[in-house]
Amino acid sequence: MATNKDYWKKRIDETAQRRFDLTYEVMQSETRKIYDRITREIIKEVEAMYYKLLDEELSRTEIWTYKHYKDLLNSINMKMVKLGLKEINILNYNLEEALREIYVETPLPQHTPIKPSFAVLDDVAVQQIIARSWSEKHFISTEWDNKKELVRILKKGIEDCIVKGQSKDKLVKVVMEKMQVGFNRADMVVRTELMHTINEGQRQKYMNHGYDKGIILVAHDERLCEKCVKYADNEKPRPLDEIVLPTHPRCRCTCIPVIE
Ligand SMILES: [Zn+2]
Repeated sequence: MATNKDYWKKRIDETAQRRFDLTYEVMQSETRKIYDRITREIIKEVEAMYYKLLDEELSRTEIWTYKHYKDLLNSINMKMVKLGLKEINILNYNLEEALREIYVETPLPQHTPIKPSFAVLDDVAVQQIIARSWSEKHFISTEWDNKKELVRILKKGIEDCIVKGQSKDKLVKVVMEKMQVGFNRADMVVRTELMHTINEGQRQKYMNHGYDKGIILVAHDERLCEKCVKYADNEKPRPLDEIVLPTHPRCRCTCIPVIE
């Protein structure tokens, strides 16, 4: 027989998973769009540079001093700044929205230890949670580090192609592959930060309603993940203010308050 506790466990967990799916879809599609646009822009410039290179019959090794190549690198750098700023905007805006939503959506029993006078999370709390660094690096630093790395692999890919005298099509393919690597990293940041934000919103709600202990529910598809299983510690109650989720990228584990 399902107990009252099981009922809340299921409802709260489902709310978190649903909010993740809804917001993730929006964030993923916005991120995809900006990556596609920047990729098209870079390809256009790489092609133009390649045609000039052929026209001027430059030797492959002269590329390093070639003005059009330097211009291309400058332009890629600027596009990466544009990309990074846009990604940070997507994160800030959607994470704040998700935080407000999950705070309202998360169900709690009618009789909670405390009944706060406000049903919503105030703006200051929202901004503080999003601005707080909860893992080694805040997502803003991660984004810039990722852009720096993307410039590096793009540059290397383009130079390798030119030195080896590969076709323009091959060069375009390499640019697309490297940009896909960049997108995958951006997607990982989105997933991890969104899951964290949802967990934070729920945790804030429990604490604002007077709960002080929580248990961790290991996500269905993660029952074999040693890290998650160990962190959940067999659903042993522990202080809510010590719980930090997710435990790894792609982790979908959640936390629920201890309901008597
Ligand atoms: Zn997990």
